[in-house]
Amino acid sequence: MRAVWQVLVLGVTGLGYHDMAWAWGPEGHAMVADMAEMHLTARTQAQVVELLRIEGRRHLDAIASWPDAMRASRPETGPWHYVDIPLYAQQYDAWRDCHEDWRGQRVMENTCIVAKLPEFVRQLGDKRLSGTERLLALKWVVHLVADIHQPLHTEDDHDHGGNMVKVVFAGKVSNLHAVWDLGVIEQHYGWQLGPHYHIDRDEVRRAAKDMDARIGQRERESWADAGIPIQADAVAWANASHALACAAYRHLPANPLLSDWNAGYQQYAWPVILQQLQKSSVRLAMVLNQTLGQ
Ligand SMILES: [Zn+2]
Repeated sequence: MRAVWQVLVLGVTGLGYHDMAWAWGPEGHAMVADMAEMHLTARTQAQVVELLRIEGRRHLDAIASWPDAMRASRPETGPWHYVDIPLYAQQYDAWRDCHEDWRGQRVMENTCIVAKLPEFVRQLGDKRLSGTERLLALKWVVHLVADIHQPLHTEDDHDHGGNMVKVVFAGKVSNLHAVWDLGVIEQHYGWQLGPHYHIDRDEVRRAAKDMDARIGQRERESWADAGIPIQADAVAWANASHALACAAYRHLPANPLLSDWNAGYQQYAWPVILQQLQKSSVRLAMVLNQTLGQ
């Protein structure tokens, strides 16, 4: 299987991971934020509103893609969005997977999403920090809880997390990472990103409301992992996403440049993506309520 991917790897070097594809596209991030917002306690909601007000915003979906939008001006933050667990490894290993900077150099500090997410959660809850600092942390928490549930953000197969695996999807030349970020979601809803990554926020909100309504109470409770410290959660969430990533590669045909696999792949991937978005939202609400609700 490995050899097949190597043949497909494009000869592109020197590009950062997100130079090629976004995290969940703006639609996915906005949906997770919208769904989470519906489940904040009154106390959490009040604090969120207070932080958002610093920049004249009212809803979490307005900040959900901010770390992607500013990434070009702060390239060192690139690795914070993902963790390169080798595709065929069993699980996350901090020393192996969390010490590479945006230039691909090994460094002493932790650089990956598994470490950065708990760091920002701590900052968000730290009342000694200024409102501006805590708003910055909120932006990262909202974004990274979603990113860590995108299966292709938790693996690498010497292909920049699937960014180098060229495919034809929905009639367009794309790559495996982008198919998981937004291709399948857009295909399901018939959406298309506008210029400058513009999305129809009302339409996305309606879809989020519907998606949220489909989460059963039992699922909601089992996904929330209440009481587990966020550090342990981040590792568990990344490992679970990584297991899904292996399947994402396995389901690709020998030649993903022909489009005859698209319909079958859509049918397999959409339920997986739907549940990952739902889980992200339940867990984002949990993290915010635990951090700001007391
Ligand atoms: Zn991201």
